[in-house]
Amino acid sequence: MPVYSLRRMLIRLARLRLLFVFVLVLVLAGGLLAQTNFPPASTAPKNPTKASPVLPNSPDWREPFPPHRMIGNIYYVGSRGLASYLITTPAGHILINANLKSSVPLIRESIEKLGFRFTDVKILLISHAHFDHDGGSAAIKKLTGAKYMVMDGDAQVVESGGKSDFQYGNAPSLWYPAAKVDRVLHDGDKVTLGDTALVAHLTPGHTRGCTTWSLKVSEAGKTYDVVIVGSPNVNPGYKLVNNPRYPEIARDYERGFRVLKSLPCDVFLGAHGNYYGMEAKYAQMPERLKAGGANPYIDPEGYKSYVAEREQTFRSELQKQTAAAK
Ligand SMILES: [Zn+2]
Repeated sequence: MPVYSLRRMLIRLARLRLLFVFVLVLVLAGGLLAQTNFPPASTAPKNPTKASPVLPNSPDWREPFPPHRMIGNIYYVGSRGLASYLITTPAGHILINANLKSSVPLIRESIEKLGFRFTDVKILLISHAHFDHDGGSAAIKKLTGAKYMVMDGDAQVVESGGKSDFQYGNAPSLWYPAAKVDRVLHDGDKVTLGDTALVAHLTPGHTRGCTTWSLKVSEAGKTYDVVIVGSPNVNPGYKLVNNPRYPEIARDYERGFRVLKSLPCDVFLGAHGNYYGMEAKYAQMPERLKAGGANPYIDPEGYKSYVAEREQTFRSELQKQTAAAK
C-alpha cells in the first residue's frame, strides 16, 4: 500500500472517530436534558409502549434550600426541587411530603434549623404516591411516630412501595420502602391537629389518589385560603386513551381540573416549587416585606393562570392521543 493512501486512510479514520465522539456527546447531552425535569407532555414519545420508560429525576431534588416561614404557620422544609411543608400547631406538626428516601436527613435538618422538633411531627401527608414525594415516608414514620394519612387510590400504592403504580409499577428504580397507612382519606376529608384543619381534595389523574390540600392561614390580622396543588401534570409516556391499567384516567384529570378551578386560592403552593415559582417568590420576600408590600406567596392570579395553562396542555395532549388512536 502506497504511503499516500495509507495517510489518507488514517485521516479518514481520525475523522470517523471525531464523528463518533460528537454523536456520543449529543446522545449523552440528550440523556442529561431528559433527566433534568419532566419534559412537557408535547415532547413525549409518539409511541410510549415502544420507548423506554422516561425516569423522572432532577439534580435539584437533592439540593438543599433555605428553610423558611412562607405564611402563617406554613414553613418550607423541602429541597430546591422537591417541596415539603411543615404546618406547625400547638399540638404538634403536620408534614406534607416525605420526598425521596434520601431526603429525610435534609427535611429533619430544615425543621430543626427553624427551631422545631422533628419528633413533634404528628401527621404525615403527601401530594401523591410517587417516589419523589413518598419515598421517605417509611423512615419519617419510624423516626417520628407520625400517623400517615393517604388518599384512597394512593394508599394502596404507598403500601406496595410503588409496585402497584399504574405507570411505574414495573420500574424497580422507582420503587421505595413501603409504608403502612394509618388512615385512608376520601375526597373532602378533614385532617385536624391543634388549631389547624386541612381539607383533602381528590384531584386524580397524575395518580389515582392525587391530593390537593387546602387550609386557611392567618397573617397580620387577615385570613388567607391556601392551596397546595397535588399535580395536574401528564407525565411523558402516560396513556390518556385506551389505558388498560387506568381506564378512567382522562375523566379523572378532567375531574381534577374542575376541582382546582373551584377552589378559592390566595396562597398558591404545590408539590414542586416550580409550579408556583417558589425560588423567585422566596427571593422577593425580604424586599417586599421591608417595603410594607404583600407576601409574595399571595398570588391568586398566578394560581388561576397555572391551572388554566396546565388544563390547556392536558387537553391538547388528550386531543393528540385521541386522534392517534383513531
Ligand atoms: Zn408525580
